[in-house]
Amino acid sequence: MAILVAARFDADDWARWWPALDAAFPDEVLIRDRRDADPDDIDIALLASPPPGALRGLPRLRFLQSLWAGVDSLLADPDLPAELPLARLVDPAMSDAMAETALWATFGLQRGFFDCLRRQRGAVWQQPDQPRPDEIHVVLLGLGEMGRCVARRLLGQGFRVTGWSSGRTPTTGNDAAIPHCAGPDALDALLPTAQIVINLLPLTPATHGLIDARFLARLPRGAGLVNLARGAHVVDADLLAALDRGDLAHAVLDVYTTEPLPAAHPYWQHPRVSVLPHTAAQTDPRSAAPIAAANVRRWRAGQPVQALVDRARGY
Ligand code: NAP
Repeated sequence: MAILVAARFDADDWARWWPALDAAFPDEVLIRDRRDADPDDIDIALLASPPPGALRGLPRLRFLQSLWAGVDSLLADPDLPAELPLARLVDPAMSDAMAETALWATFGLQRGFFDCLRRQRGAVWQQPDQPRPDEIHVVLLGLGEMGRCVARRLLGQGFRVTGWSSGRTPTTGNDAAIPHCAGPDALDALLPTAQIVINLLPLTPATHGLIDARFLARLPRGAGLVNLARGAHVVDADLLAALDRGDLAHAVLDVYTTEPLPAAHPYWQHPRVSVLPHTAAQTDPRSAAPIAAANVRRWRAGQPVQALVDRARGY
């Protein structure tokens, strides 16, 4: 049998991914062009933004392994076989990278460094207020693989942290010590206490547009927003209005409804927005390929695979 790598990669992407995949799957036949295998021989697909129709006409396909952590685009793909098990990538190296980005953004907001960078444009010399970490309450939307790693690192730096989730997944072991709450009412109560909100939710019908005018109005004046999850969590017009009024002090954004962010988008020039190009936690083939391979081996051995996506929940 063969494994199809269905990916919308350019030549540079393939040059990074193919050696890592080749090394991680020494006992498998890997193909990246469907014409190189009989469709009857393909039983597994590794998915990285697959091209339209990439999975059509594969009668013996049985298992799907995403090479990305987020699966919202995959689940929106009408060509994704609805009945097949789909696992997403859970890579501790990505969680560490995400935590580094979250720490950078949090320190930037807490110490007023984004304000300094904005004033630099006008040659304004002004020292910002710098509250201590224990005077800053960070609310983390999403306490999953990424959120828990971010919470641990922020707590380690002395910030006050509360994670918010749906409450379906219990936090266990050391993570049980992370202050957390669940559900819409708890979020309503939490937001007025937040100096910084960091979004690490999956994009689902329940979380789409969550960060809207109502959400932002519950934050105290001068709060900061860090969106590291998906652009469609945020209603752009509502965020821009809150920034223009000065209700929200600053937004650090890594993800957008349309990517790449169009050149004419107001975020690029907004003095209170820091734009990152979807780089908070890049997938590194060197760690991702062995993790995908281990899951494929589990599936071939009839063992439970890790990080199976719940199609009904959407993550
Ligand atoms: P995860 O392990 O699936 O965790 C998701 C968390 O969100 C869980 O705590 C879950 O709670 C919570 N949640 C889901 N729906 C909710 C709802 N309706 N209300 C409240 N809480 C809800 O996901 P992850 O691995 O941490 O990744 C999170 C997201 O990060 C990904 O989906 C992706 O979009 C984004 N991401 C971004 C980048 C980047 O570079 N910017 C890189 C990788 C990933 P329960 O478990 O209790 O249901």
